[in-house]
Amino acid sequence: MIPYMQRWERPDQFRRGPALFLDRDGVLGAPLAPHQYVWRWEEWEWAGTWMEGAVDAMVAGLLAWPGPVIVVTNQAGLMMAGGNWYDHYHDLNDHLHEVTKGAIDEVVTCPHEAAAGCECRKPAPGMLRYAAAELGADLRQAWLVGDNVGDLQAAEAVGARAVFVGLEEPRVNTLNVWWEADLPAALQLIRKICRQLEINSVDISV
Ligand SMILES: [Mg+2]
Ligand SMILES: [Zn+2]
Repeated sequence: MIPYMQRWERPDQFRRGPALFLDRDGVLGAPLAPHQYVWRWEEWEWAGTWMEGAVDAMVAGLLAWPGPVIVVTNQAGLMMAGGNWYDHYHDLNDHLHEVTKGAIDEVVTCPHEAAAGCECRKPAPGMLRYAAAELGADLRQAWLVGDNVGDLQAAEAVGARAVFVGLEEPRVNTLNVWWEADLPAALQLIRKICRQLEINSVDISV
C-alpha cells in the first residue's frame, strides 16, 4: 500500500530550503469532524475565513517558504467514496495549487482506512518519507504544521520540527513542537525560530 501522490512542476523546483509539510484539514482548510471527508472543490472551505485576508496571508506565507511545500493528508473516505473519487479529488488538489499561486508542490494522500495497517496513515511517517525520498529532502531539517497529535507524532518519528495550530495547547511534551493559532502565525514563528537558531536557509523575508 502506497500513498497517492499528486505533484506539479514549477520553474524553481525543487527549491533548496527545508521541506514544509502541511496537514490539510484544520491547517489549510477548515477543520472537519471525525469521519467527515472533503474531496470535491465545491465542498472546500479555507481555514480562518471568518478573518479578513486569511487566505491571502496563507498564500503569502507559503510563497515565501524557501523549500518544497507538501500537503500530507489522511483521507480514508476516498476509498469509501467509490469509483469516481479520483477525478474530483484531482480537481480539488489542482484548485489548491492554483489558489496558492503554485506554492504547493505536492499533495500526498493516504486513502487507506485505519484498519488497513498501511505505513502512510498518520501518525505513521510514511507520507513524509515518500515525499522526502522523491524530493531529496532532509527530514531532520523539515518542518510540519498540523492540528492533530497524530501529525506531530509523524514529524517526531522522522526528527522533523512541528508547529501545532489550534485554539488549545496540544497535549504533547516534546522540545520540537511549538504552538500557534493558525498557519500564517505558524510560518512567522518558524521564521523567528530559525533566525534565533541562525539557520539562514529559512530566514525568509516577507
Ligand atoms: Mg487536521
Ligand atoms: Zn495509507
